[in-house]
Amino acid sequence: MKRVLVTGGAGFIGSHLCKRFLAEGAEVFCCDNLITGSLTNIEELLGKDRFTFLKLDVTNYVHVPGRLDAVLHFASPASPIDYLKLPIQTLKVGALGTHKVLGLAKDKQARVLLASTSEVYGDPQIHPQNEDYWGHVNPIGPRGVYDEAKRFAEAMVMAYHRHHGVDTRIARIFNTYGPRMRKGDGRVVPNFINQALTGEDLTIYGDGRQTRSFCFIDDLVDGILLLLEKGDADPVNLGNDLEVSILDFAQVILKLTGSSSKLCREPLPVDDPKVRQPDISKAKSLLGWEPRISLDEGIKRTIAFFKETESR
Ligand code: UDP
Repeated sequence: MKRVLVTGGAGFIGSHLCKRFLAEGAEVFCCDNLITGSLTNIEELLGKDRFTFLKLDVTNYVHVPGRLDAVLHFASPASPIDYLKLPIQTLKVGALGTHKVLGLAKDKQARVLLASTSEVYGDPQIHPQNEDYWGHVNPIGPRGVYDEAKRFAEAMVMAYHRHHGVDTRIARIFNTYGPRMRKGDGRVVPNFINQALTGEDLTIYGDGRQTRSFCFIDDLVDGILLLLEKGDADPVNLGNDLEVSILDFAQVILKLTGSSSKLCREPLPVDDPKVRQPDISKAKSLLGWEPRISLDEGIKRTIAFFKETESR
């Protein structure tokens, strides 16, 4: 039986990973300091055999008794609003937290998978973005706390791989959405869906011509498990390569909610990337992975989640 640790296991992506590992028969240790994660995300897992929740801050300390096969480092504030509110914690979990995770993995001879991000490419000057691109990040801008923390984390992972021979993986995760996103996390998917469901105006930041490419959570989890099993130490983009403008995305939300909300304009956040689309040829050839769930289908499932959460 595999024994795995998921840091940030009570967060959006982390909780889906915990659930999947349990379903595949692994013993799962889930740690979280619950500053942006929530026990609600793992309530169906608490008390199950083979599932242990550890409330701890991976920045300070992380330990799991006994053998460990894999550590998946998903702890971090992850929405622009969260990391702007928690800049120091964001830098610390990417830097000190990654160091702690790597130390643990070295000790246990476990494989490590780092949740990195498309934000390492910053406001990209090549399009779509492939893994060879070094990025265009403003280190001292407000988003720099997240982008640079993840860039440092990648450098730290590669150093442990090269210097200590730790078996490592780096997933560069593009915009991901689905059930268990937090309503108030400020990202475009929960914002637009909840605004549409309550009849508020959908807040378009800037002119809405900036683009993103949205991947449904189940597809992403498939990709992460394949990367863990079949990947190598070099970074791999995981995301859906269907690119949409934010204005077009607002129309998708209005159509699928049946809402008559209007659109309103708000200022574009500082350093908001103008375009973002993953080149996923490496994930396709190395892992045999590509997303399967269409935007309409994924958004329908996410709308259902927010409706159900509201009625509870
Ligand atoms: N955005 C928007 N309205 C919102 C929230 C976000 O227009 O209410 C825009 C934001 O400026 C960005 C895109 O949607 O261009 C995606 O934002 P999000 O915060 O989801 O993630 P990001 O890709 O910027 O990390």
